[in-house]
Amino acid sequence: RWAYVNGRYLPHRQAAVHVEDRGFQFADGVYEVVTLLDGRFADLDGHMERLGRSLSELRMDWPAAPRIVTMIARELVRRNGVRNGSLYLQVTRGVAPRDFKFPADVPSTLVMTVKRVTAFAKPEQLEKGVAVVTVPDIRWGRRDIKTVGLLAPVLAKQQAAESGAYEAWLIDPDGTVTEGSSSNAWIVTQDGVLVTRAPSQKILNGITRLSLLRLARERGIPVEERSFTMEEALAAREAFVSSAGTFALPVTRIDGKPVGEGRPGPITRMLRQAYLDYVAGQVPS
Ligand code: PMP
Repeated sequence: RWAYVNGRYLPHRQAAVHVEDRGFQFADGVYEVVTLLDGRFADLDGHMERLGRSLSELRMDWPAAPRIVTMIARELVRRNGVRNGSLYLQVTRGVAPRDFKFPADVPSTLVMTVKRVTAFAKPEQLEKGVAVVTVPDIRWGRRDIKTVGLLAPVLAKQQAAESGAYEAWLIDPDGTVTEGSSSNAWIVTQDGVLVTRAPSQKILNGITRLSLLRLARERGIPVEERSFTMEEALAAREAFVSSAGTFALPVTRIDGKPVGEGRPGPITRMLRQAYLDYVAGQVPS
């Protein structure tokens, strides 16, 4: 297994960054996760575009030109011989003696790893749906930037796991669902309207979210980008989460209560398949 660290392809167990890396000391870094399906990157352009946005919002430099970063990603996947899995890509503000202010003239750090995935969802998760629990959203105010500062989502996901749930839905102080700890949150109302929160600084605008919105609109499904409460979700016909690794995964229980009739629904299933078909139609990496 191979990893990429600042210009070198290294055996995974020897891949390391310096103790004074700002990603390690300050979470002063950004990342992307890109899924590989049958040798194709899912939504690679979208993920690279969002990486550029995260970098520029934090006034961080690209570690190399975007097309070079893409080339390295393809090469790393090739060296690992992975056709189904995920690519992790992280950029930090580099290595410098610890000081809060930006260091001058320090190159950013670029790290990539590739993981093989045998099944993106267990058959049972697709047949029965997954459970979520709600937790207060205690994250910072710029969730639109995909930073490696993930302590609040780590605590939320751990709480979900300890409650036997798959994901935590984060609740804004105003009572609405912002998103999942590592996914966007969706419902389908009793009137058949697909609802997901509008992009803002309160959520990460998922690349899978953007593709699902487009696929839904192309299929004539009514869509509303707006916030919803957990009560509205429980009264909904369907609920699901989306992310690079889950595509669209049905949610059938929230805090132990069933969503609608407690079974995965047709819109979720259709959108999951539409996403897989869309990726399968892309040019292979
Ligand atoms: N929201 C949050 C907080 C996330 O961490 C993720 C996963 N990166 C998402 C949404 C989904 O984004 P994407 O579809 O780009 O994976």
